[in-house]
Amino acid sequence: MIGEHSLFGPVDPAAEAGYVDPPARKGFFTDTSVCIGCKACEVACKEWNEIPDDGFSLTGMSYDNTVSLSANTWRHVAFVEQPAAPAAATDGAGTVDLGMPGPPPPTSPEGAQATEELPDFRWLMSSDVCKHCTHAACLDVCPTGSLFRTEFGTVVVQPDICNGCGYCVPACPYGVIERRTGPEGAKNVGIAQKCTLCYDRIGDGQRPACAQACPTESIQYGDVDELRERAKARVEQLHEAGVMDARLYGADPDDGVGGAGAFFLLLDEPEVYGLPPDPVVTTRDLPHMFRRASAAAAALLVGAAVAFAGRRG
Ligand code: SF4
Ligand code: SF4
Ligand code: SF4
Repeated sequence: MIGEHSLFGPVDPAAEAGYVDPPARKGFFTDTSVCIGCKACEVACKEWNEIPDDGFSLTGMSYDNTVSLSANTWRHVAFVEQPAAPAAATDGAGTVDLGMPGPPPPTSPEGAQATEELPDFRWLMSSDVCKHCTHAACLDVCPTGSLFRTEFGTVVVQPDICNGCGYCVPACPYGVIERRTGPEGAKNVGIAQKCTLCYDRIGDGQRPACAQACPTESIQYGDVDELRERAKARVEQLHEAGVMDARLYGADPDDGVGGAGAFFLLLDEPEVYGLPPDPVVTTRDLPHMFRRASAAAAALLVGAAVAFAGRRG
């Protein structure tokens, strides 16, 4: 049963957090099918939020130089190199027109020649970010109230209140939040850090910096309800175009986190992009565990009392 302050299930997170008549929930729909891997989102996020660099060394893992989300990477563009999509997954043609600028379609004479020259691999690119979960375990476990739910339904860290305990780090089912460890002299070292969904910008009626910078509108910002409808329509469009592997990730309010405020259209399994296939809010079972522990403690007390009474008798 979903009750007040539930730890799972579909709810309006802002209303549940106590906001009276909150504005529509805000979030992201990231359509990875049109991401070109330019990393403008990463750069815009760093600039706007004054995030230190991650070092400038190449990892040797394709063009992905940051590898994952971290205290110093609040947007991470994954570059996944794969063998070319099997023909069966793309309506027999091997490639499909995603509506992006590019070579002519393979059905035209120019396109036929271009197709012959196509490489036998493809890139999957995806700009990952904090999911701003409906049920956010990072927020549930924060002992200081540094992590809080905003009126827009997003989850934000207040650096001046965070004591650096790090409880939120293992609580996040996506491995998003992290304490900043450097570089020396950077602001907020020791403090938990992650995307704020640009709380300072959206409160002022502006788009988040990453969405503003994205040249292909892979990152779409808006009301979560409307974005979910838009995402469903895009999946249908891709299926009609023969991209049968297109699927949504995080858009289902009945999933393990009650639906994400930031969800994705993927072109392969979530694991391929480094995302957990079936995330569950890690605090979901806490009430059940407390009830069990209380029952066990009560049973022990009763047992001890009976044993004590028996010895006296
Ligand atoms: S993705 Fe992780 S850090 Fe972001 S709101 Fe959910 S639990 Fe918190
Ligand atoms: S919403 Fe703002 S803080 Fe979050 S990833 Fe985009 S630019 Fe960074
Ligand atoms: S700015 Fe847009 S197109 Fe460029 S990497 Fe980020 S999500 Fe992809």
